[in-house]
Amino acid sequence: MSDCLFCRIISKEIPAKIVYEDDLCIAFEDINPQAPMHVLVIPRKHIARITDIEADDKELVGHIFTVCGSIAASRGFSGSGFRVVANCNADAGQTVFHIHFHLLGGRLMGWPPG
Ligand code: AMP
Ligand code: ZN
Repeated sequence: MSDCLFCRIISKEIPAKIVYEDDLCIAFEDINPQAPMHVLVIPRKHIARITDIEADDKELVGHIFTVCGSIAASRGFSGSGFRVVANCNADAGQTVFHIHFHLLGGRLMGWPPG
């Protein structure tokens, strides 16, 4: 989708600090980090919101969680801990309508989240 910011990052029309990519997903540094580690992991497939994930996407979403774990481990956060967050629609604060998994670590996280 040419009008989607994250599709444009995937196609490299818009620069991003990409930290991982494979056939199914890419991961890049959030432009406005909320923690020492703040990476966004997104599918190459344009899916606007969590409620648009279909049965055929199960493997894709599972793969994204595997990638989140690998990136966190590679940065030394598997022991201390980290958080994976996905916001859906207005009340959760979703601002980019291409699903993305925030991978946060390197500081103590509060609960419940704000
Ligand atoms: P959300 O509010 O859950 O939709 O999160 C969108 C995230 O995308 C925010 O954390 C933004 O800081 C991040 N973001 C917006 N534009 C860019 C960009 N060009 N490159 C990297 N991250 C971005
Ligand atoms: Zn998109």
